[in-house]
Amino acid sequence: SSSASSASADAGRGAHAELSALLGRLKAAQRKSGAPDYDTRIDHLDKLEKALLARKEDFVKAIGMDFGTRSRHETLAAEVMVVVNEIKHARAHLHEWMETESREIGWTFLPARGEVLMQPVGVVGIISPWNYPLQLALAPLVGALAAGNRVMLKPSELASDTAEMTKTLISEIFEPDHVAVVTGGVDVADAFSRLPFDHLVFTGSTRLGKIVMKAAAENLTPVTLELGGKSPAIVGDGYAIAQAAQKVMFGKCLNAGQTCVAPDYVLLPKGRADAFVEECKKAFAEMYPLIGSNPDYTAIINDRHYDRLQSYLEDARDRGAKLIELNHKNETLDPNARKMAPVLVLHAKEDMLLMQEEIFGPILPIKTYETLDEAIAYVNDHPRPLSLYFFEHDQKAIDKVLRETMSGGVGINETMLHVAQSDLPFGGIGPSGMGHYHAREGFETFTKKKPVFYQSRINSTSLLKPPFGSRIDFVLK
Ligand code: NAD
Repeated sequence: SSSASSASADAGRGAHAELSALLGRLKAAQRKSGAPDYDTRIDHLDKLEKALLARKEDFVKAIGMDFGTRSRHETLAAEVMVVVNEIKHARAHLHEWMETESREIGWTFLPARGEVLMQPVGVVGIISPWNYPLQLALAPLVGALAAGNRVMLKPSELASDTAEMTKTLISEIFEPDHVAVVTGGVDVADAFSRLPFDHLVFTGSTRLGKIVMKAAAENLTPVTLELGGKSPAIVGDGYAIAQAAQKVMFGKCLNAGQTCVAPDYVLLPKGRADAFVEECKKAFAEMYPLIGSNPDYTAIINDRHYDRLQSYLEDARDRGAKLIELNHKNETLDPNARKMAPVLVLHAKEDMLLMQEEIFGPILPIKTYETLDEAIAYVNDHPRPLSLYFFEHDQKAIDKVLRETMSGGVGINETMLHVAQSDLPFGGIGPSGMGHYHAREGFETFTKKKPVFYQSRINSTSLLKPPFGSRIDFVLK
């Protein structure tokens, strides 16, 4: 094993040297060309949109290969459409975002001027995960390109067909020193994260987020970390249980629960659990009449993740939880196809794996609370989540939850859809991440807001130069 690990260290060093050289070429090209103007950036966005739409069926196929089964609709709606909407939004607002801002100057410095110049940071690195392998690679790319940067992208090796298709798409429309796609496994990812980018976006687990941030710190590279966690769904007293169940099951079953913003667990008012379970059964059967042969119901990405989910269920069962499998047609599901029927979990306890770890699959623990304060306290006793969902019509209760909890984003009376909004910033807080992309905030993430002070021809700051006398006493009066 020592020769294997030194071979992998060699491979790591090799990858690092190659990637360093590539980054060097992008940086040199960036210095040479300077910041692209508005028309050039629009042209980049147009090209990306056109190529992506032309290749959308190729991505349906590639992502389908990576998952075994991946709903075509999910790929078109949650990957292609989200990216296209990001492009459209950036295009519509780019002019306003790029505009130099004029700022106020203190009266003692007048008639000088102050401006903030929007400048691309330079070369942005993007490391993306497998669960929405196209969206989570290209949506940050849109922000980085709109802001005028060059980009190196490292897609997940767990979605390797998509990674190759992304490489093909990008190489058809961008020069290799403009946007470069780098493929490979953990060695390459590790070397990639050590490069002195001007900004690094990492989407993935909280555990790896820490490793990436450490590597970036060595270069003082600023990071945007899009991480995970356990996103709660709280059902309020005044909300119809059937509707809440439909919306929670929608969020839990999309991509078979392999979504960073999927509702991880539910908090229900005491006494409503049985009704909620019945409504979840109905909602699932309505959305997915079949499981095994249903092309709309996505498979678990690989055996490791399938086994991980099974181990959560085993652990919960062993510790006395009640598991309710939503397999209404009693289908025999082949573990090799990795289609997993959703499982509702009652009497989940804190020390169970599925209450400790982000679930990232179609398992839904259901807990109950007596007062809204208790539900809020439960959320606040746990790491700050990426999303929080609250089902309630009473605005006072909504305001209370909004003010008293902290999360990356919030959906009121809906799951997931806040992420599909191009004009809402997206990002976690604490262990669910830091920084934002999407919307103007995304443009700003990849932009240096450079303050510029213009002295006037009539130099007024002589006021501040020695000999001082007592002028400052006069100003401070
Ligand atoms: P992951 O953390 O396993 O891997 C993500 C990426 O990290 C991959 O491209 C991989 O090659 C790379 N990587 C692996 N080892 C690395 C290393 N040592 N240094 C640097 N990079 C390395 O994540 P995953 O399993 O692909 O995705 C699941 C997790 O991602 C979940 O926790 C989920 O919540 C989170 N997620 C978050 C968001 C978000 O937007 N906040 C979106 C999707 C997924």
